[in-house]
Amino acid sequence: MPTNSDLQWVKDVIRSREIFLSEHVIRELLAGRVTLSLIISVMSSGKVIEVHTHPQRGPFYVALGFEGAKPWHVMFAGSTESGLSVLIVYEPAFPMWVNPQTRSRFEEENMKSHRSNCPFCTGIITPVVVGNFDYRLDGRLYVVKDVPAELCEQCGEKYISFEAAQKIEKLASAAQPEEVETVMVLRYPVD
Ligand SMILES: [Zn+2]
Repeated sequence: MPTNSDLQWVKDVIRSREIFLSEHVIRELLAGRVTLSLIISVMSSGKVIEVHTHPQRGPFYVALGFEGAKPWHVMFAGSTESGLSVLIVYEPAFPMWVNPQTRSRFEEENMKSHRSNCPFCTGIITPVVVGNFDYRLDGRLYVVKDVPAELCEQCGEKYISFEAAQKIEKLASAAQPEEVETVMVLRYPVD
C-alpha cells in the first residue's frame, strides 16, 4: 500500500482546489451527512487503504479518515494533470467491512465472484424500492414514487433495470401526476 507521501500529488491538487465531486457526493453534502472539510481532511491526511486498478481507467484510491471516533472512507481518482475526482464518501460498516481497514471475507469473495456488484465501488447490490425518484423534464421537476431499483449498500448508487426504465419513460411521456407538491427552491449565490 502506498503511504501518504507517495500520494503527494493529492495534497498538491487539494491545494490548487482542482477537485470535482460526483453527484453522489453532492447528494451526501446536501443531506448533511458529510462536509467538504471532512472530505478534504480524509484525502489529505487520511490513510490510503486500497488502490484499485482498472484496465480502462486510471487507478482509484480508498482513503480512511476519522471524524472524532467515526470512520469515513473517501474513494477518489485523478492525477496532477486531471485534478481530483471524489467518487464516493461513506461510513465503512458491517457487513461490508469487519473494521474500517478490512473488508469482510464474505465481501472479498463477493467482489471476485458476484456478477452484480456495483461497477462504481464494487459494493454489494441489493433490491430496494426507491420512495422518491426525481427527474426533470422540460424544466419541471417530477417525482416517481416507489420505483424498484438495486441499491449499492456501500456507496448508495442506484441502478434501475431497463424494464423499470421503460415504465418510467412511459410515465414521463404521459406526465399525468397523481398529486402535486410544493418544492423548496434554493439558488446558488453569485459572489
Ligand atoms: Zn457502490
